[in-house]
Order: sequence, then structure tokens, then C-alpha cells
Amino acid sequence: MLALRKTAAAFGLDLVEVAAPSPPPAGHATVAVAAAGICGSDIHAYEWTPGYEFMAAAMPVTMGHEFAGTVRAVGDGVTGLTPGDAVTCWPTVACGACPACEAGRPQECRDRAIVGLHRDGGFAAEVTVPARNLRRLPTGLPLDVAALTEPLSIAVNAVDVAEVSPGDRVVVLGPGPIGLGIAWVAQGRGARVLLAGLDDAQRLATARRLGLTDCVDLRDESLDAAVRRVFGDAADRVIEATGVARSVSDGLAVLRAGGVMVAAGIHSAPLTLDLTGFVRGKKQLRAAHDTTPRALDEAIRLLAAHAGTLAELITHRRPLAAAVEAFDLARSRAAVKVMLLPEPGDGDTHRRETRA
Ligand SMILES: [Zn+2]
Ligand SMILES: [Zn+2]
Repeated sequence: MLALRKTAAAFGLDLVEVAAPSPPPAGHATVAVAAAGICGSDIHAYEWTPGYEFMAAAMPVTMGHEFAGTVRAVGDGVTGLTPGDAVTCWPTVACGACPACEAGRPQECRDRAIVGLHRDGGFAAEVTVPARNLRRLPTGLPLDVAALTEPLSIAVNAVDVAEVSPGDRVVVLGPGPIGLGIAWVAQGRGARVLLAGLDDAQRLATARRLGLTDCVDLRDESLDAAVRRVFGDAADRVIEATGVARSVSDGLAVLRAGGVMVAAGIHSAPLTLDLTGFVRGKKQLRAAHDTTPRALDEAIRLLAAHAGTLAELITHRRPLAAAVEAFDLARSRAAVKVMLLPEPGDGDTHRRETRA
């Protein structure tokens, strides 16, 4: 089967022929992948920006951690999953034994491995993962939309970390797939949301199709002016999903005293921060990364209830054989979520296999 792999600690990815997985070992299941999304972290790994050196130990490794598909086979001892089940995957494989795991916080496991970064992932026709990482999907949820579960769960977690309440004035920086999800989830919780991009006409157009009315391109208006125009006051919450260090200090500048700023982007440069203003304003700076089992379940519920709306996040679908062109698309600001389809033409078959 074809697999999109990171094979060297350098720019690029390789589309190579690999053996299909052998029957799954105990506690594992093999999934026929219907759709796998290209994530910002996949692009970082592709471009080999700092912060992904840990992958070298796993190479060659098949990438892809945002996927959905159909269970093809299960290993010994797997309960609650049968071949034919439509599933998505939480890519964080926790050890189950460290203090964080024992305390019920697998997302903070000190020995966690990520499917598609530390071990083979979903940019292939089939992938074998621990069965406990799979979640069965509600009937009727299209598998390409279900492949948005992991990024949407990251967004749900970021909104959780920000403790967004109804009526809050929330600024979201960065209209990529995560930022769009954060803005949509926060609005769904009753917040007033201002979404800001920079030279982001296409992705802000997607935001409007998601029902986010207050969108600003910082090419046309400063963040400070936009916040005053839309809210008439400073923000209660700012959530950053840009990966640009300056957006954290810019966000803190429009945050009210005592407000909460959440950094959710993956940053490759350090931040310079006016600590005096930060302390005097009693501002809270938090980090959100990965997700939680609770947020993952909420993401699945939201996708099932709003599949038609959230499908707007998928702007491009490409066969796995066209992965390199698909990565170029994903790196451009013209795309939101690019889905790779490992078995093109097979997606409808998988949908028919979904339990009635
Ligand atoms: Zn991702
Ligand atoms: Zn652990």
C-alpha cells in the first residue's frame, strides 16, 4: 500500500510503497482509512521547522494523526469494536502507568506517543492502533467530516482552558482550522467572538460560512481598533492559534485586567513580553495543547449535530497519490483543511458499511 512517510531529518516527505499491516496484535485494531486531514503539525514536520527533532527516532514513520475509517480487524482481547465499525482515533497513546495516567489525565502522560508522529499514522490505506484510542462514530456521520474530530477536539480543549462563559468577549487570533474551530465552539457556548487573520481573505470567508460574523483582516484594521469597534471594550478572553510569538503579546494588549489569554499555536520562536504591564494587569497566560477524553467526546457530538456546517472546514480533498500537491495546498492560505483520501472512490463504500 502507499504511505506518506517522514524518512529523514530534513525538508520533505516521501510517498512510498510499504507492506500492509499484519493482523493486529492483542489490544489493537486495524482501520481502513477513509480520510486523513493534513494538520499544521504535519506541515511543520514536512518543512522540518524546529520542535520536531523527536521524530528522528521514529523514522521512517507514516504520518497522519487526524483520520477516520472503518475497522478492518481486531486483535485478541478487544471488546466493543467489530470489523465494519466506523471509527475515529485519538492519536495520543498514553502509557497507562505513570502518575498522570493513574490520575485520569492521559493527555499529560509523560511517556505518551502520538500516532502519526512517534508511530505509524493514517496517511496510508490501513493503520494499526491501540483499540482504546478508537472511538465509534454516530450513524450517518460522513467519514471525511469525522476526520475533523481530532482538530475540533483541540479547539474544544482550548476553549475549555480559556474558561469561556456565555456573554464573554472573546478574540481568536488565526483563522486556520484550529482557530476557526475555537471561534465556532466559543460562539456556540454563547460568547461574542471576534476572529482575526492577517492577509486571510479565503479563510475568513470560510469563517463567515460557519456563521462567524465578526471577522477582521489585520491588513485592513489594527487589532486594537477592531476590538474597540466590535466590543467597545477590552476582551475577556484571547485565544491564539497562529504560532506567531508576537500574536501572544498583541493578544495580551487587548485583554482586560484579570482576563485570560490562551496560547494554542505551535511556536518556533521565543516571546518578548512586557512583564510589568502583564503583572500590573493581573493577566493570566495559559497554554492549551492536545485534548482531553471529554473534549474528544464533545467534538464527536458537535460533528454529528452540525456535520453540514463543519464540513465547510474541508476545502480540498485529494487522493493520497497526490499528497505532495496536497501539502503545497495546505501550506497556502487558500486552503483550510485538506483531506487526503487513501482509497479514492472507496469513501462511499465505507459510508455504506457504516452501521444502519
Ligand atoms: Zn493535528
Ligand atoms: Zn502515562
